[in-house]
Amino acid sequence: MKKINIAIDGYSSCGKGTLAKQLAQKLNYVFIDSGAMYRAITYAIIESDISIEDSEKIESLLQNSHISFEYNPEQDYFSTLLNGVNIEKEIRTMEVSSRVSEVSKLESVRNFLVKQQQQIGLHKGVVMDGRDIGTVVFPDAELKIFMTARPEVRAQRRHHELLLRGDMQTSFDDVLSNLTERDSIDSSRAISPLKKADDAVVIDNSEMNKEQQLALAIDLVQKIIN
Ligand code: C5P
Repeated sequence: MKKINIAIDGYSSCGKGTLAKQLAQKLNYVFIDSGAMYRAITYAIIESDISIEDSEKIESLLQNSHISFEYNPEQDYFSTLLNGVNIEKEIRTMEVSSRVSEVSKLESVRNFLVKQQQQIGLHKGVVMDGRDIGTVVFPDAELKIFMTARPEVRAQRRHHELLLRGDMQTSFDDVLSNLTERDSIDSSRAISPLKKADDAVVIDNSEMNKEQQLALAIDLVQKIIN
């Protein structure tokens, strides 16, 4: 069967990752969480105590950062590894969430990660979610989806996720303001801002459950593959 690339972009915490993972499982495709890659670099910058203005140090940090993913079948979960070390838990903290959008504005960081993402897509059969996948990483993706949901619904979902991960400190309001702030920085940055590709299909899943959004997306895939 013909393999395609699927780009899923949209606002923070609107279920892009969930849909991307569901689609990859269903189609037996590779799933890539591009946001995790930006989070991994942000974590590395925080850990090394580098200023984001220090372009030389950032460049050398990038050259020494190898990001990979590992599937954990028991938890049905992909973990992010930085230089072979599992940093999945560390990259989901509010500290990383509150700094990632500033790091993601940097041209050096974007060039470094986009190159790797494009390499992964060369052989097709990839579902990647992020902010610039349909516009910059895979402008030729056969299917582009732009996801959105009401901010309160998104904050509720992310807050619930944090609670499940054992974070009892972060309040719903903290999550909501972080989402709103990231959306604003991500949409207004100079390089590769978050925006819907002209040929993307919009899915607003405020009133949808996971099964409904998957059914909708599978329908879109079938139309392209058949
Ligand atoms: O997807 P997630 O919310 O984990 O992404 C974290 C941040 O990484 C986003 O708020 C954005 O600043 C950045 N990002 C990006 N481009 C992507 C994916 C994520 O700039 N393709």
